[in-house]
Amino acid sequence: MEGKLYIVPTPIGNLEDMTFRAVRILKEADLVLAEDTRTSLVLLRHYGIEKPLQSHHQFNEHRSVERVIERLQGGAVIALVSDAGTPGISDPGYLLIRECVRAGIPVECLPGPTAFVPALVNSGIPSDHFIFEGFLPHKKGRQTRFQQLAAEEKTMVFYESPFRLVKTLTQLAEFLGGSRYACVSRELSKIHEENARGSLEELILHFSSKTVKGEIVIVVEGLKK
Ligand code: SAM
Repeated sequence: MEGKLYIVPTPIGNLEDMTFRAVRILKEADLVLAEDTRTSLVLLRHYGIEKPLQSHHQFNEHRSVERVIERLQGGAVIALVSDAGTPGISDPGYLLIRECVRAGIPVECLPGPTAFVPALVNSGIPSDHFIFEGFLPHKKGRQTRFQQLAAEEKTMVFYESPFRLVKTLTQLAEFLGGSRYACVSRELSKIHEENARGSLEELILHFSSKTVKGEIVIVVEGLKK
């Protein structure tokens, strides 16, 4: 029997967002690879799934890939999950997927939760063409990235931490102009979901007046020709 790697997206905050197929694949898999086994154990228990869990995160994936490939070649069906959303999207996954593709092992990513899609769609900013930037570099290359983004005509999508939000909005305003339209989506799919829309200047004012908490996606309009 041929082994297979399933990439299984998990909720980004609302447990109702798990798909029926995601639950079935996790139930049927021989092994679940998890970014944080404790986090995934809670999730699996919630859906009544009892499965062996093995850790697979950014600090051990280089070492664990070889063993995982061997198990897949031996016929195992393996599911990869991350702490939230779609593995491989600002989360571990790419390395293992690349090695499976190279080894001719089938890979299937299930459609499911990810933070950037609802943020982009909620923003009301054109979603026909966009670039996903993920997390900006903290130090090296950060200024250069902003300089390049100043000329970007497509809608831009960023992941950001609450502690860095105002700093990033301020730098975006510096390089792209304070009147540039943007949307900050916070706590998507959770009870305190917020989608704050306005110019970068307005958003800086809005988020400077309080302690920012939760998970954040920033969507910024592209340069208008
Ligand atoms: N794999 C995930 C995905 O598919 O979206 C992303 C994982 S990345 C480590 C975590 C970042 O995703 C957070 O810092 C935040 O920028 C974004 N994020 C995750 N859940 C979110 C939520 N409920 N609301 C807003 N942003 C979220």
